[in-house]
Amino acid sequence: MSQISADNDRFPPGRPVVFRNATVLTIDPSLGMLEGGDVLVVGDRVEAVGRQLTVPDGTMEIDATNGILMPGMVDTHRHMWQTALRGFGADWTLTNYFQFYYLNWGKIFRPEDIYAGNLLAAIEAIDAGVTTTVDWSHGLQTTEHADAAVDALEAIPGRFVLAYGNLLGAPWQWTKAPEFADFIRRRIDGKGDRLRMQLAFDVTGDPAFPEKGAFEAAREFNLPVTTHAGVWGATNDNGIRLMHEHGFMTPSTIYVHAATLSEDSYQRIAATGGHASVSSESEQNAGQGYPPTWRLRRYGIPVSLSMDTSVWWSGDLFSAMRSTLSADRAREHLEAHKRNETVVLSHLRAEQVVTWATLGGAQALGMDNLIGSITPGKKADLVLVKNDQSPVMFPLLHPYGHIVFQAGRGDVHTVVVDGRVVKYEHRLVGIDLNTARQAVARTVEYARTQMGEQAWNAAMNPEKAVVELRDNPYTYTDQARARAAQGDGAAAQAAPQE
Ligand SMILES: [Zn+2]
Repeated sequence: MSQISADNDRFPPGRPVVFRNATVLTIDPSLGMLEGGDVLVVGDRVEAVGRQLTVPDGTMEIDATNGILMPGMVDTHRHMWQTALRGFGADWTLTNYFQFYYLNWGKIFRPEDIYAGNLLAAIEAIDAGVTTTVDWSHGLQTTEHADAAVDALEAIPGRFVLAYGNLLGAPWQWTKAPEFADFIRRRIDGKGDRLRMQLAFDVTGDPAFPEKGAFEAAREFNLPVTTHAGVWGATNDNGIRLMHEHGFMTPSTIYVHAATLSEDSYQRIAATGGHASVSSESEQNAGQGYPPTWRLRRYGIPVSLSMDTSVWWSGDLFSAMRSTLSADRAREHLEAHKRNETVVLSHLRAEQVVTWATLGGAQALGMDNLIGSITPGKKADLVLVKNDQSPVMFPLLHPYGHIVFQAGRGDVHTVVVDGRVVKYEHRLVGIDLNTARQAVARTVEYARTQMGEQAWNAAMNPEKAVVELRDNPYTYTDQARARAAQGDGAAAQAAPQE
């Protein structure tokens, strides 16, 4: 018997599941945290939360002792198609990224490449306990590309929102194409809450506001808009002002990064009920601006978390929670130091960040009536963080802090999506990783051939910025040695003897 059919025998659809004796972070304000707690799943719903629950005959029992059970995490912004080139841009800036995808190579990606990246990203998401992911899919040059994106999302038992985009086209044009409306009818309508759709495009700030037509299309198709806002050098306050003046800022709008914006823009976002998607690991590395949570709270703007793209960094929300909490606290300290003050009490708490990674994402997507907390009646999207082989899983004193600063994706023991067990005892259930491995290998081979070896290597290894060395007044400054200490080996050799 194959592993996959064995999995299907063990986890037949519809078999109730109970988690026993967990530390349950319900993220439901009325239920709070429950130690020694049980959670019963019947069908696609959470049936009960309590202690020593009575369960139906035939219920599968999962021993969650020494583990933390939390709601499935929600990533509100991922370019899933880019996972096909995982890690390629580790040393990029945002400029390198724009040059690669927008100017030079974005056009080479075929429907099968979109499929490959999405398939791997979708598997990666559920493996890491990210049960809902917004696929900010801006490589959809044709509806064949979009069909491929959805084919991959439907092949994996996660919950997804296709944020339809096309970085090579004008959104006020492609949203008007008859095949776009046809795609929505064919692939999205009637799919329920496992596959939803948003419209993904950016607002340039052009005073003529050409994006108006795209916002009108969003309204016509009843699709939320998700947009990169407050991105240094790309989008700014002008875009926010134009959206607001034309009445297109709504509670369903998601502002990704929202990093380099003025007080006036934050007030407009807050006044219209929009949500931020903060990608701290992205903002810290690429240069959109400083992760903005420390500012957003002053305006009451709700926060969700995201990982942006695996072409650079990681794709799990443990990293998002950790980097967000760290960036927020770092900024509060630095701002205080500028005033010659000391931060004595932390404002942002681990519990808040876990809430952003779960319920905050669900609220941003308008899905908090369905997901985001462990609440009887809601959909059963659950993550058990438990690892009896790990020296990091005990003692378990501060469960929210444990999730944010101690645990990692390797500690994800069991994942349930829509009542279905998709990972158990650290192993994916009924998912064939080899299909994704082969699809991605074909895309890598193809992209490398299309680009040519020289361009491939140059794109992966952009030129390094040079450090301006300071002369040291206390000693003779050996420039070559100092450069070598910076890792500038070639520069050290090339440096003239002074
Ligand atoms: Zn992005």
